[in-house]
Amino acid sequence: MSANLLLGKPVQGALLEEVTAATRAITDAGHRPPHLTAVLVGGDPASAIYVRTKTTKCREVGFGSEGIILPEETTTEELLAIVRRLNGDDKVDGILVQLPLPKHCDTKTVLDAVDPAKDVDCFHPHNTGLLVQGRPRFAPATPAGIIELLERSDIEISGKHAVIIGRSDIVGKPMAMLLLHRHATVTICHSRTPDLAAVCRGADILVAAVGVPGLVTRDFVGPGAVVIDVGINRVADRAQAAEILGDAADWARFEERGYLVVGDVRPDVAEVAAAVTPVPGGVGPLTIGMLLVNTLAAARGRRDIGNAG
Ligand code: NDP
Repeated sequence: MSANLLLGKPVQGALLEEVTAATRAITDAGHRPPHLTAVLVGGDPASAIYVRTKTTKCREVGFGSEGIILPEETTTEELLAIVRRLNGDDKVDGILVQLPLPKHCDTKTVLDAVDPAKDVDCFHPHNTGLLVQGRPRFAPATPAGIIELLERSDIEISGKHAVIIGRSDIVGKPMAMLLLHRHATVTICHSRTPDLAAVCRGADILVAAVGVPGLVTRDFVGPGAVVIDVGINRVADRAQAAEILGDAADWARFEERGYLVVGDVRPDVAEVAAAVTPVPGGVGPLTIGMLLVNTLAAARGRRDIGNAG
């Protein structure tokens, strides 16, 4: 038996089409399109790629977008001044501060300064509170994208046992809330969970959001489970990549880049599971799709654009 592959691109494509149509309706009604501003501090190449991809996708759906690139030595105060300026700029509907910030920046203070109405990443405590109460203004993009993937793949959530490995504010905790509100029974695991594999084997839906390449082996997965792999890990050690990926390793890509992107879940889990998300190509594209959905929601929430869109 080999599991169904749950691919993120087709779902991202559907989300982008829906957002494009809504944006056209907004502009046809004479309103400005939604506008996202992304702030990047420092020269981390992966972060720069993420920001470029996000602003490019914005333009594809008809949004206004802008990337503000700041030097590595930008202070918390300087960053706060920029966030406050964007809060007060009526043209800007969504503000995204790309993480991680350099170590000297106070990430919590910066994220708390973002106007909750423009907080399209859903990191502000106000928005987290609304999410916990089951009346979200926005949902964090990665877990919300996973819900889209499950629902659009006709995977039942209600009544199922969902096990999440990871309890971060960005993925694990909001994932738990979104599944709970859809009537799953939810277990959250973390680095101090004893006998992790046994807990995970009881899952109908297993979400791995850990950041440890290949942590989830066949031993973690019960027959027929749906396995969602959030992990994005760069593995530059050939022996480690071979041990985790086996025949699935793309050695041509390894030679070209000097590393492979590996999930938290081993590919051979597909021999036991009913459905799995690949890495890359699974959860990643959904995160961007949901960011656009949130930016559209922010524009609708902030502005009097009637029923347009
Ligand atoms: P964090 O580092 O914030 O959280 C990791 C969580 O995993 C923590 O709760 C930690 O437990 C737990 N953990 C670590 N090691 C183990 C272990 N051996 N056994 C059980 N639990 C463990 O990571 P994020 O949530 O931000 O990200 C997780 C992964 O998802 C990363 O690879 C990241 O790159 C990726 N990611 C992918 C996205 C996408 O778009 N596809 C978006 C966001 C993240 P404890 O709390 O006890 O320390």
